[in-house]
Amino acid sequence: MNWLRRWRRQRLLRRHAFGDAAWERATHDLHALRHLTPSQHTRLREAATLIAAEKDFLQPGGAPLPEAQIARVAALAALPVLELGLDWYRGWHSVIVYPTGFVARHTVEDEAGVVHEVREDLSGEAWDAGPVILAWEDVLDAGAADGYNVVLHEFAHKLDMANGEANGMPPLHRGMSRAAWTAAFTAAWEDLQRRADAGLPLVVDAYALEAPEECFAVMTEAFFERPQALAEAYPAVYRQLVAFYRQDPGGRT
Ligand SMILES: [Zn+2]
Repeated sequence: MNWLRRWRRQRLLRRHAFGDAAWERATHDLHALRHLTPSQHTRLREAATLIAAEKDFLQPGGAPLPEAQIARVAALAALPVLELGLDWYRGWHSVIVYPTGFVARHTVEDEAGVVHEVREDLSGEAWDAGPVILAWEDVLDAGAADGYNVVLHEFAHKLDMANGEANGMPPLHRGMSRAAWTAAFTAAWEDLQRRADAGLPLVVDAYALEAPEECFAVMTEAFFERPQALAEAYPAVYRQLVAFYRQDPGGRT
């Protein structure tokens, strides 16, 4: 980073820092952050501060979002890019947080009479070159340690879109293999489909089966929320995500 950008970021960090109490309240129950070392947590807080300073965090009518809500969203948004850098979020400007609303979780019964819980992707959206849209009640749920995390999901879509339309493959780092990535995710997808067809429990949300980009976003949620379970079920996907995010939340490598 050149000196001008470094200076600008230092100034933003001073001006926009979250208060200790606000930060603690916003993040204390976030399961996805528990693997961070103290120094990573410090860097996460800085990254969250910069995200809060550089993006517009808005309510649907355009009013600014309360600081407590910004802190929670920004903390989670900072996690995937903690070892990648904030440049991965370039090219778009705003995060819009609805109080509630466009959540749709329902159950459906398949031909075999098995009832599945289905989540429509309405607790959040990520537009190509446009805003990230979230429902606050789902952002609050991010503390539930159930493997769901709408913020990680939508920001994973943003990383996926860094090389064009979301397709389940973000720009891979030097040394990573597109073939290995595709093989890992395809095998996991096929296993999930088999298990879903057989009515067996799934390690990740069945929403992963909707499309390759949903598979990447859902696997990202699991990677940070339930890393051990993901590493056991789909070790090849887990290794690809360790290589991509440059983090090992399950302590497996
Ligand atoms: Zn999605």
